Amino acid sequence: MKITDTIHAFKHHFRLALGENLYVDRWVYSYILLGEKVCLIDAGVRGTAPQLLDYLKQICRSPAEISMVPITHAHPDHIGGCPAVRKASPAAPFYAHAADKPWIEDVEKQYRERPILNFFELVEGPVPVSKELKEGDALSWAKGKTLRVLETPGHSRGSISLFLEEEGALFVGDAVPAAGTIPIYVDPQASIRSIQKLKKVPGVKYLFSAWHEPISGNQIHTTMDEALRYIEKIDQIVKDLCKTMPPETSGEELSIRALEQLGIKTNKVLQMVKTSFESHRKN
Ligand SMILES: [Zn+2]
Repeated sequence: MKITDTIHAFKHHFRLALGENLYVDRWVYSYILLGEKVCLIDAGVRGTAPQLLDYLKQICRSPAEISMVPITHAHPDHIGGCPAVRKASPAAPFYAHAADKPWIEDVEKQYRERPILNFFELVEGPVPVSKELKEGDALSWAKGKTLRVLETPGHSRGSISLFLEEEGALFVGDAVPAAGTIPIYVDPQASIRSIQKLKKVPGVKYLFSAWHEPISGNQIHTTMDEALRYIEKIDQIVKDLCKTMPPETSGEELSIRALEQLGIKTNKVLQMVKTSFESHRKN
């Protein structure tokens, strides 16, 4: 989908396994930035990476023109297609924050430490990270196009956002949760600080999140405020539950009860969801 002459959004559809023969449909956005060369923000999942590369051909660009791939964080739906991109453009370097780099370079390690049932359906394999991104770094893939790196941890320890200064376009990966959905983060207080930081970036005209449709204008701050209120609401729910539940209550039970209060009925929660709710118990 073309957003501006420079920015295209590509939606990857995939399924996340919740149990044996039990799947939930999900999607995630990658962003393609055009100039003399092509910059790809996140590579999506294994199954749809070929479609992403085909899309480039449809807009009369070659996958071989991809000259850099900054990755917002290491989760499967952002790195799963990296090996396919590497085959299409062998010289294109992958960039990521140091805290998420080990899970990109060693996907077995990520699978062990953050198990997802159909992990290898989503992730083709590892790729090397050539540069560790940190706050304030500037990336340029074409003349007059600068992506500024902002560290926005919380969803993962090494989550970053990227601000395309010339277009006022802010790419946030999964740093801004979608209110009303199942929360996924490792540190809610860090997430809150990251969203507050993103709210202060001057000159933002577009918000490009992996979890939302592209957002512009007044809706940008509304979306960020909704995300902040949602995390604060979950914090209150977990803290109230902890007052009434014995301390040895399992993370699964806590998550099911908290989700119920959020209006999400389930009797099964993934490890990463338990991590989100348990993270509120820690601070
Ligand atoms: Zn993620």
